[in-house]
Amino acid sequence: MLFEIFDPKAAPKPIGIDLGTTNSLVACVRNEKPVAIADCNGEILLPSVVSYAGDEVVVGTPALALAQEHPRETIVSVKRFMGRGADDPETRRLGPYEFDDTPSDVNTVRFRVRGKTKTPVEVSADILRELKTRADDELGRAGGAVITVPAYFDDAQRQATKDAARLAGLDVLRLINEPTAAALAYGLQTKKNGTFAVYDLGGGTFDVTVLLLEDGVFQVKSTGGDSQLGGDDMDRAIGGEVLEQLGWLAAGIAKPHSLTKHPKWTPAVVRLVLDQARQMKHVLTEKDAVEAEVPLPDGGSRTVRLTRARFDELVTPLLERTGVACKRALKDAGLAASALDGVILVGGATRVPAVRAYVKKLFGKEPLADVDPDQVVALGAAVQADLLAGQGRADEVLLLDVTPLSLGIEVGGGVVDKILPRNTTIPTAARGTYTTQEDNQTGFEIHVVQGEREMVSDCRSLARFTLKGIPRLPAGLARLEVTFRVDADGLLAVHARETTTGIEQTVAVKPTYGLDDATVERMLTEALDFGEEDLTKRRVAEGRVEAQRIMLATRKSLDADSDLLESGERAAIESATSTLEAACKGEDPRKIQNGIDDLDRATKGFAGRRMNRAISRAIGGRKVDDVGHEVAHAKGIEHAHDTWQK
Ligand code: ADP
Ligand code: MG
Repeated sequence: MLFEIFDPKAAPKPIGIDLGTTNSLVACVRNEKPVAIADCNGEILLPSVVSYAGDEVVVGTPALALAQEHPRETIVSVKRFMGRGADDPETRRLGPYEFDDTPSDVNTVRFRVRGKTKTPVEVSADILRELKTRADDELGRAGGAVITVPAYFDDAQRQATKDAARLAGLDVLRLINEPTAAALAYGLQTKKNGTFAVYDLGGGTFDVTVLLLEDGVFQVKSTGGDSQLGGDDMDRAIGGEVLEQLGWLAAGIAKPHSLTKHPKWTPAVVRLVLDQARQMKHVLTEKDAVEAEVPLPDGGSRTVRLTRARFDELVTPLLERTGVACKRALKDAGLAASALDGVILVGGATRVPAVRAYVKKLFGKEPLADVDPDQVVALGAAVQADLLAGQGRADEVLLLDVTPLSLGIEVGGGVVDKILPRNTTIPTAARGTYTTQEDNQTGFEIHVVQGEREMVSDCRSLARFTLKGIPRLPAGLARLEVTFRVDADGLLAVHARETTTGIEQTVAVKPTYGLDDATVERMLTEALDFGEEDLTKRRVAEGRVEAQRIMLATRKSLDADSDLLESGERAAIESATSTLEAACKGEDPRKIQNGIDDLDRATKGFAGRRMNRAISRAIGGRKVDDVGHEVAHAKGIEHAHDTWQK
């Protein structure tokens, strides 16, 4: 009997996709259990490699084979490029690729392959298309997809992932964080409460996440990791050991680039040694020792032997690096390792026994490893897809994640006012209220920034827009409410509203390029290192703004009501003003504050008399005519996605 495999009328089945740096895979729920979907050869993991070397796009294992011969046309680890701008210098170090640098409207990295250009979104879409085909074949028709992203992925990276899915013809139900997906695969949502750490060691990245489960709701409490640490480093360590045994390398962990300096060690030979090393690593997961035939540059080969004990020694420094990140994530979450209810292992490299032993020692408990660590993320995504697609069950699991870095806006003096602090659970909304700094300001420039530092210049600019059409008002009278809303996918929308007039505007923030976790890490470290210095800078900047405001107001009132001055008062005020002016030129926040206080005291009596006069005028029905000159504060950079609501 024959069956029609692809049936357009069949009910579409929800799927979960782990779009990994090294490997990707797709899963679904069958008979209430999540299962990974294999290709026609029975392979579950699809290497995240796409080759454009030939006339047809090649994805997965066959593409991996092409990488040696066509390194520039074969894109590996495209995930590292997601959401990055064309001008991001970091991208040049991520591979041997050729880039298209001609100006373009869209600020994205573009690979140049055989005269054509490909963006990371398009390359990822090719991987996703392959997985979709696999799911269509297996299920008749793949339905909505839940796709996983690292917890630290920022707006641009999440948006890029969504775009790739759309391009591949997938209907995205939701993006969820990889560690949260892993927790779902273990069914942890059925427990009511608990705290869990997710330790994810993949091919080239390490991520650790602390999850809190409260009343059946997940929250990501903190994230950490190392974007340049994974199973590939173990391969290099073994490769170095092998070459040392062969007498080819003096000492230490192999640096593949230095190997290629030997005239006979061509990149292809080095690649072969590393492939061999990876196979040896896999064998050592099961056995206590491994022997392998290593190709020699002269065409011959030699047998090398590696014990698990030696391998364990080789990976110790790598494991210790993961330990540093774990301790930091625990500290960020405000937890001791002993407070955790469980530790989940994710990523192929956590199969290595030394990794399991290290994690057990680090956290003081046996980690959860029953679910295949290669598949656990995709399986959890399938569980979530099933819940979202199922009727009436959609909010059985409410997923909450966190903002990886603080979000705020620029206020006077180039200072950042944080609206949403780092590690705030999402979806979330928070509001800040501001006022005008100058008279008759008709526009507010809203500059959205991300980062931990106190000064705007040390943070990352996400977007700028101008709220216009505010009626002329004296400084301090307009009231601006800025609301930040981060949705379940981690995407930020900024809403600004001037409350006296009701003028408002909403902007979906699409930053021009992405942040990787290394940058996040650097920004965090800098924030710690510069903490004190930053705070002083901030106080000086704020002090200067306040001083300018007071001096301007004083000058205006002296002009307007000089007849109210008592003898000696003008001299005292002028002297306090010039002391404050001098303090503002310096860098001592205390001097500025003292100057402000002194000027305040010097003007106190005068201000009281002015107030009385204003009141009696108001009672007499007369108004203070306060028309000054227009001060344009708005720098007028408009955001392409601005929409006026009123
Ligand atoms: P990613 O999340 O980066 O896409 P994976 O979770 O698929 O990566 O992990 C890939 C890594 O896991 C590779 O370095 C691979 O060699 C390693 N790995 C896979 N299986 C084993 C095993 N049996 N023993 C040791 N390492 C393994
Ligand atoms: Mg992974």
